[in-house]
Amino acid sequence: MDDIYFMKEALKLAESSLMRGDEPFGAVLVKDGAIVFRGENKINTESDPTYHAETGLIRDFIKETKITDLSEYTLYTTCEPCFMCAGTMVWAKLGRLIYGASNDDLRNIRGKKGFPCSKTVFENSSHSPVVTAGVLREECVNILKNYFSKR
Ligand SMILES: [Zn+2]
Repeated sequence: MDDIYFMKEALKLAESSLMRGDEPFGAVLVKDGAIVFRGENKINTESDPTYHAETGLIRDFIKETKITDLSEYTLYTTCEPCFMCAGTMVWAKLGRLIYGASNDDLRNIRGKKGFPCSKTVFENSSHSPVVTAGVLREECVNILKNYFSKR
């Protein structure tokens, strides 16, 4: 139940990214049942191709709070993290990751080569968050479909 609520919040951020002219990806960071930080894709508005929702969120949260160990935090993201974002999660020792659409979903939508990015990174790293996949997958896939099908 909580997972659905938090993923809906991440979806709102994905919508917000899209409205601003960025790509439709959103993420929220949760601790003790409450959202402590929100992240949106800002690759265009920040002119930063690395400003993905998840990496941006983790960087901004750590910069603001000086908390560098996220082992007691859960991150919800609308799409399975890429190699970079999964790597960021490793270095920040994220406790739990929950995502909606998978890399396979994204690959099918974009018709490009894809890869099970987060799985590959986590399986080959010294730290891995506990992962739950497919929460509100259909909603998360739809927002990506709507965006990438027009490109
Ligand atoms: Zn990423």
